Amino acid sequence: MKGFRIRRILIERGAESDSLTKRVLDELPNAPREHVEPYELAPCENIEEMDKESLRIIHFKGEFLKPCPGTKRYICCGYKILNVGSNCPLDCSYCYLQSYVNQPSLRIFSNLQENLDVIGDIIDSSPDRIFRIGTGEFTDSLSLDFLTGWTDFLLPFFSRRKNCVLELKTKTSSIKSLIASRYRKAIVVAWSLNTPRIIANEEHKTATLKRRILAAQECQKAGFFLGFHFDPLLYYPGWEAGYEQTVQLLERYIAPESVIWISLGSFRYMPSLKRAIKRRFPGTNIFDGEFVAGLDGKFRYFKPIRVEMYGKLSERLDKWHHDLGLYLCMESDDVWRQSLGWSPENSENLCSYLDSRVRKLMGD
Ligand code: SF4
Repeated sequence: MKGFRIRRILIERGAESDSLTKRVLDELPNAPREHVEPYELAPCENIEEMDKESLRIIHFKGEFLKPCPGTKRYICCGYKILNVGSNCPLDCSYCYLQSYVNQPSLRIFSNLQENLDVIGDIIDSSPDRIFRIGTGEFTDSLSLDFLTGWTDFLLPFFSRRKNCVLELKTKTSSIKSLIASRYRKAIVVAWSLNTPRIIANEEHKTATLKRRILAAQECQKAGFFLGFHFDPLLYYPGWEAGYEQTVQLLERYIAPESVIWISLGSFRYMPSLKRAIKRRFPGTNIFDGEFVAGLDGKFRYFKPIRVEMYGKLSERLDKWHHDLGLYLCMESDDVWRQSLGWSPENSENLCSYLDSRVRKLMGD
């Protein structure tokens, strides 16, 4: 990863003897390390610094499996988050974590492996339900894998279950351990995509578009299912040509038949995120455009702009292949209909639609 280094390792009390702690310390034998007390929550809503060069190892006492923080006012996909840690060594200017996390440092949970049985019991106790689970909501799924070895134990754990799928969402090309693994079933490797210009200007330390797509191609050839996420779509003069370049690269390198889903979501932010972005990335252009406050308090592009972007991009993707599992992230029934020409109407139906993609592609 471009420009990434760990300056120090902070080992919280309680994490010392967990297996993941030992692994990280073995991987980084020369990094300075300190034993520290668990971090006290700061009363402020934002932390000043993300401190992405310190790695804090935590014996986590909360829930490892959580519902994705959607909102009742928009149609949500019913995703579950496997909480492996929070904060991310990559540095996208628009990243919502800048106002979401209230503790600094890259935080990884050392007792995840020891708690997998609890997650297994939840999944196994509802055999008729499909669990769509991802690790990429509070961090990038693969960027720290070389240290943590997450994929070494998560792939076998999820692959042997019939009613779940694990999605590893990334902006890196760090797929070495995936390719080396012998587990494929129930694993989706997914890339967040954007235009070459947005990647160069706003997605700092991430892999280039071409490297992401070549990594996706390699995973596909190795037998993994793929997902793609055009999120956040950003509106700027020339956006259409930019997204066209991205779709052309997909067409060139990816066979669409094993794409399980592609989501589209437009840039959205709470006022607190705008303040954090302005402070950390004063030169960014992502606030150019017309934004309005939505029902959840988040600002989004004015509806006709969103409809135009979703409509044009979905039409273009549909030309590539008619069965890509396209869906919108956090949008209303109305926007679905105007953009895609249909709507699941509610969150329950969107869940069923995505579950049916899992059943169809992976076999019942
Ligand atoms: S890759 Fe995702 S989690 Fe990491 S900085 Fe970018 S938006 Fe945030």
